[in-house]
Amino acid sequence: MTAPLGSQQRPLRVAIIGAGPSAFYAADALLKNEDLRITTDLFDRLPTPFGLVRGGVAPDHQQIKSVAKMYDRTAGRPGFRFFGNVHVGRDLPVAELRERYDALILAVGNESDRKLSIPGEELGGVHSATEFVGWYNGHPDYRDHQFDLERAERVAIFGNGNVAVDVARVLAKDPDALASTDIADYALEGLRRSKVREILLIGRRGPAQAAFSPKEIKELSELDGVGVEVRGQDMDLDEVSSHWLTCGAPSNALKNVELLRACAATACDGHQRKIVCRFLASPVEFRGDGERLGSVRIELAELRADDQGTPRPHGTGRFEEIPIQLAFKAIGYRGIPIPEVPFDDRRGIIPNREGRILTAADSDEPLAGHYVVGWAKRGPTGLLGTNNADSKATVEKLLEDLGGKPAEPLAADHADEIVEHLRALGIDFVTYEDWQKVDRYEQEKGREAGRVRAKLTSVEELLATVERLRSVD
Ligand code: NAP
Repeated sequence: MTAPLGSQQRPLRVAIIGAGPSAFYAADALLKNEDLRITTDLFDRLPTPFGLVRGGVAPDHQQIKSVAKMYDRTAGRPGFRFFGNVHVGRDLPVAELRERYDALILAVGNESDRKLSIPGEELGGVHSATEFVGWYNGHPDYRDHQFDLERAERVAIFGNGNVAVDVARVLAKDPDALASTDIADYALEGLRRSKVREILLIGRRGPAQAAFSPKEIKELSELDGVGVEVRGQDMDLDEVSSHWLTCGAPSNALKNVELLRACAATACDGHQRKIVCRFLASPVEFRGDGERLGSVRIELAELRADDQGTPRPHGTGRFEEIPIQLAFKAIGYRGIPIPEVPFDDRRGIIPNREGRILTAADSDEPLAGHYVVGWAKRGPTGLLGTNNADSKATVEKLLEDLGGKPAEPLAADHADEIVEHLRALGIDFVTYEDWQKVDRYEQEKGREAGRVRAKLTSVEELLATVERLRSVD
């Protein structure tokens, strides 16, 4: 006999793939529901939860990272489980989750980065910001990356978003000011040996169109021992920008312009390191000696309004060559396809309508029982809080589709079945309880060294620690 999905007899079982902020917001929205009985199982390929909060947010932004306390509260709700170290799509096929759950929510973020697609991009010394951010944050995928900080004196960062500013700040900041954070040990050592003196922050559009938040650029301008150079001529806005600022520009644009004007009016000599903001310039070629980066060729641009009035950059045919030894591309992220899940290759996201996954990028037909949240849903935009509202919106659609629908009954031991299945597959999964022990262990180790946390940075190290801590209790 069937029973309504979400009733006491027949809980609504949701598998969430990914355990970053969007996954936790989705789990929270589901588990908070007072009318329905819901369970959520979060699967992450890493042994640790929290996605970009652990592996992306800069170590000197501990205030932002403290949002993990909220995720802890979600994890404490009845019906929540975490299965870390489970790589869905590789070790566990999506089809095997489909068989065991009423709905899947893809919360896989954007794990790759956009390419510039210009000559020389493959030269040693040209990196994506993703690699550098993952490296200093101790992300297992990036801990072994090498950045030639000991050779580089001048570095260029391409892009004018908050990631570009994070990279500039970490490169410019006195390493002593990072020492008490949860930055990876090896990264702190690497930054201590760094010879970087000048950091170029290069935007393809003007100062009014920069994507960074005023708070971030203000923080940059207040760093001890660091000068921020903005050329006065760049702050004489062109007509397109001036017009756009009065109609159509986001509210941050005017604040950014004011802050950058203040930087332009301040002398920045005598500092140990300087950040030079360049605008209206696009990289067209990285040049080197065949292996290592030696310079970047940039084309200067001018702005023209498109059909919607948005200022867009257009090459002027005027070029400059700037000697640099390291380059970081901070021009945005894109998703990686998950086997058996539709993917929109052009946009780098999972095709969806309001969070309901569509059968293909060019289809209008929803794939029953499949949902998506966060950057995998809308692309790499917004601050952490944006993902909260976004996950809630997807959960609403899921409950609209499934809540109260008649469903076949479940076996009495249905909740144990996935656990047994993972064991049968030989997957050594990490539970939330395991993670909480690791969390305490990292914090304790950190405290002993006068730091917020001493991160474990390899999967092997994390799993060995889980194993050891399990046997302690
Ligand atoms: P973003 O904000 O979208 O910025 C990307 C930048 O790359 C833009 O300046 C963009 O210029 C530029 N760009 C794109 N394609 C380019 C190309 N081919 N050549 C040159 N420049 C190019 O992305 P993000 O910095 O990666 O950040 C992702 C999201 O995470 C954002 O929502 C951000 O606010 C958030 N985030 C927040 C924080 C924080 O709160 N502290 C920290 C990090 C990230 P156009 O504007 O001309 O396209």
